[in-house]
Amino acid sequence: MNQLNNTAVHTAVIGGGLAGLTAAATLARAGKSVLLLEKARHIGGRALSQQRGDFTLNLGPHALYIGGGASDILAELGVAWSGHKPNLRGSAVYQNRLVPMPGTPQDLLATNWLALAEKAAMMRLLWRITHTPLESVAGISLADWVNEQTRSAPLRHAAPLRHFLHLLARTSTYANAPELSSAAIFLRQFQLAYRHNVRYLDGGWQTLVDGLRAAAETASVTIHTGARVVSVHEHPTHATIFLADGQTIQVTAVILAVDPQTASQLLPEQAQLRQWAATAVPVQAACLDVVLRHVPHPDRRYVLGLDQPLYFSNHSAVAHFGPDGSVIHVAKYLPPGASDAAQDEAELEAMLDLVQPGWRAELIERRFLPHMTVVNDLARADNGGLHGRPGYALPHSQRLYLAGDWVGPQGWLADAAIVSGKRAAELALEEIERSRDWEIAPEIANLSIS
Ligand SMILES: Cc1cc2nc3c(=O)[nH]c(=O)nc-3n(C[C@H](O)[C@H](O)[C@H](O)COP(=O)(O)OP(=O)(O)OC[C@H]3O[C@@H](n4cnc5c(N)ncnc54)[C@H](O)[C@@H]3O)c2cc1C
Repeated sequence: MNQLNNTAVHTAVIGGGLAGLTAAATLARAGKSVLLLEKARHIGGRALSQQRGDFTLNLGPHALYIGGGASDILAELGVAWSGHKPNLRGSAVYQNRLVPMPGTPQDLLATNWLALAEKAAMMRLLWRITHTPLESVAGISLADWVNEQTRSAPLRHAAPLRHFLHLLARTSTYANAPELSSAAIFLRQFQLAYRHNVRYLDGGWQTLVDGLRAAAETASVTIHTGARVVSVHEHPTHATIFLADGQTIQVTAVILAVDPQTASQLLPEQAQLRQWAATAVPVQAACLDVVLRHVPHPDRRYVLGLDQPLYFSNHSAVAHFGPDGSVIHVAKYLPPGASDAAQDEAELEAMLDLVQPGWRAELIERRFLPHMTVVNDLARADNGGLHGRPGYALPHSQRLYLAGDWVGPQGWLADAAIVSGKRAAELALEEIERSRDWEIAPEIANLSIS
């Protein structure tokens, strides 16, 4: 890494995922000098894609929600992407066999695994889901909400309806913790997907990482990879950042765009941060990503588990990830707590066997990711949902800010990461403008780093 010792800059952003990149680009576009410090060799965090042979693979299935905050901010920052809507008409796995899955209201009426009364109840429910204000269900658990919605259904209809609602909730939130999860995150994601669908991105999410990097560098952000921050000290007039290689950096403001446990380790005296880190419930998934030469059943593009927390999608049927061949993501939505990686892998393979029998003979690439953290902390009902998450400014601090997919009252998944990056940067900008540090460190305006 380049020499940074005694460097004085307006802001340092710790973490080069979507949140950190957004924060850095926002600050630099407002004319501030910004250092972005990323411990890994590559920026991008969980949004990066990896090259496997001729194919680009996201880290598990990734779909961009439209209209939830991220897409607008990406546009503001000039990040271009091309993407396509998946056809949400597909199949469901129910009692180990494939049944048609209603992807539209018309499909719902046509499906034969729901009785007429169930279809009518489901139509009423879908209308309610799309018209319920999110605040009204923020403190209600998904399990309670689903039970309430299906309470009046005749006994034999209630179970399939519940299964279907939980399927929709898992697919749109990634969370598999209905007793804990706030119903609001499901309603939020469903309302977005219902209005705008989602997009699978050509070239994978690396296009977002590359676009954000370009926006940041065009605005003169200095990006350092292989730069692990080990501690942050706040002083009355500035903050000092300590790196693993012994270097230190003085800054006016710091945005910590890392996970809650790392943020707490960097600032051990912050009691509230310690509490957030200790009580966080990560949303996790086991992912089997495969590239097949030919897909045995090309018509089976999108299959979700109705009575099992499983996902299958042929992303190449929708967007471009490489030449001939298909990138397929299979995932299991993990419940909180320990999981058995071998068992999860076997279930994912069984899903592929059911949906695409013969897939093994067509295999070009295969990657199993047993414990991917999709979101660093679940928005819990007992915490008031998204409003229970930490704010963008750290309490009792003048110059320390938080960003990431576990921060702030807005957004879920990447929406939360990108929105929090922008909001943390805006608050830091206000502080920098207020700060008198300008007067004691005038050289920072003409910063150059060797
Ligand atoms: C399997 C999977 C599927 C997903 N699917 C979707 C989807 O369909 N739609 C959607 O919107 N979102 C999806 N997401 C979520 C989305 O990818 C994340 O919410 C987002 O990428 C998180 O960005 P972030 O910047 O908050 O965190 P991260 O990407 O985790 O970035 C944090 C960065 O901080 C760095 N860091 C940590 N400690 C230090 C340190 N001490 N010093 C310096 N750097 C440090 C890390 O190396 C990392 O690069 C998915 C995630 C996964 C894993």
